[in-house]
Amino acid sequence: MIKVALDKVRNEVDAEAKKVGRPVRLMAVSKLHPYEAVLEAYDAGQRLFGENHVQEVEEKFPTARPSGMELHMIGHLQGNKVKKIVPLVDAIDSVDSLKLMEKIASCSSSIGKRMPVLLEVNTSGEEAKSGFLSDEELFTAMEASLSLPSIHIYGLMTVGPLGGDDEKTRLAFRKLVSLKKEAMGKFPSLDLSVLSMGMSGDWPIAIEEGSTMVRIGTAIFGEREYPK
Ligand SMILES: *Cc1c(COP(=O)(O)O)cnc(C)c1O
Repeated sequence: MIKVALDKVRNEVDAEAKKVGRPVRLMAVSKLHPYEAVLEAYDAGQRLFGENHVQEVEEKFPTARPSGMELHMIGHLQGNKVKKIVPLVDAIDSVDSLKLMEKIASCSSSIGKRMPVLLEVNTSGEEAKSGFLSDEELFTAMEASLSLPSIHIYGLMTVGPLGGDDEKTRLAFRKLVSLKKEAMGKFPSLDLSVLSMGMSGDWPIAIEEGSTMVRIGTAIFGEREYPK
């Protein structure tokens, strides 16, 4: 069944990407679904997966993953979990402070890894959301990354506003695009090619506005059952 849902989502995303003339990667967000579900998606051709809890990654994924399976951390990361997650993932897409980035740099460097990261921006101003709230802090982190060889910033990430108001959602995604443009002017040597935005409820708007990577959970794996 996952294959059916995955194929449908992939076809829809590909069609939307074709419309805007830009490639869009599909990340399957497998949080709170068992590893069997991940493997089912993998067998159906999916390679990129996202998880948002360190402990779940540790418990769910074997250290030797199937060939080509790519796993990104996309959830808020506490400083004391960095050491655990760095060896386990291929990228950290939810870097929301300079302090966190420095910690990732130091842990990555100590195991000889260069960690690809996305800087997460809080584009909606919602308090419960993580992400850089101030442009100044975001730019400071970008500047600092230039002297952290074990960090490779490869773009920006945001989570759209709650509530499904299309206009608000669109404005949040536009904010990320305009920050990217501003940052490219300030830091021409930075690689900001990836914009990770769009989830099950808002990905078409995200692609229209400039997304190059959508993170889709529910539409592929079904509803999540949150632990009580
Ligand atoms: C859970 C999650 C998603 C996927 O959400 P769906 O609405 O199930 O598609 C995407 N991004 C992040 C950061 C998430 O935590």
